[in-house]
Amino acid sequence: MTTRATENEKTARDALLWIELLLKQFPELLGELAPTHRSPSAPPQDSARPSAPQGRSRVERDEALRAEQLHGLTPSGPTTAPLRLHVSDAIRDISDGVVELDEAVHDRLRLPRPRRAQLAERLLRVASLLGRAAEDALLMAHIRDEVRRMARRCTRALGVAEPVVRVRGRCPWCDSVSLRAFPARRSVLCVNPACRCADRECDCRTDPAHRHAWSEGAWARLAKESGGDLTELNGSTVDTAEREVRR
Ligand SMILES: [Zn+2]
Ligand SMILES: [Zn+2]
Repeated sequence: MTTRATENEKTARDALLWIELLLKQFPELLGELAPTHRSPSAPPQDSARPSAPQGRSRVERDEALRAEQLHGLTPSGPTTAPLRLHVSDAIRDISDGVVELDEAVHDRLRLPRPRRAQLAERLLRVASLLGRAAEDALLMAHIRDEVRRMARRCTRALGVAEPVVRVRGRCPWCDSVSLRAFPARRSVLCVNPACRCADRECDCRTDPAHRHAWSEGAWARLAKESGGDLTELNGSTVDTAEREVRR
């Protein structure tokens, strides 16, 4: 029971760190939508806060759209700013995800349906409920997984490189000290661009951008063949927020 409590505390701490990361980076993502040539009718950058509600008639999920309008993205005049679709897709996905998570947490904790709020407020609300969710390992893991997924989506859309961890041993194919763990994709890659494996089906033979990768099931064998260490491989591929915050 103590082990489970500790495990839950760890998950809660990790969830909180992902939430903090998301709170920090989501506004940067909104900023990415700011066009270079601003329409004269668009409000100045400083007041372009997506938190000013225009009325209660709009549904919650329109927050992202409103942010786009505030940033002058919706064609409202002669100048049409270039749409950055991957950014606006990410904003929508994260906005919807936070609403769903907020509602799911309230539902699971048998709390009344949460009132509508902006993304930051909803995230803080979820964070404040982590204590009440402490007894519920399933819920806690769901919260952590969701905020991690959204934080990852956010950093990807911002073009932030994913974390890479150097691991010991030599690549069994090219004999280079080129093995790296990529926690965000739970995978180990050989980063040597010249590396080719013996598998005719593997993309590392045909696609110059592809790097040979080992997924979890292959790590035990990889550790043995590379002279590396399985415990290290497992540890290096854990996608914790702590690693993200420290870099
Ligand atoms: Zn290699
Ligand atoms: Zn290969």
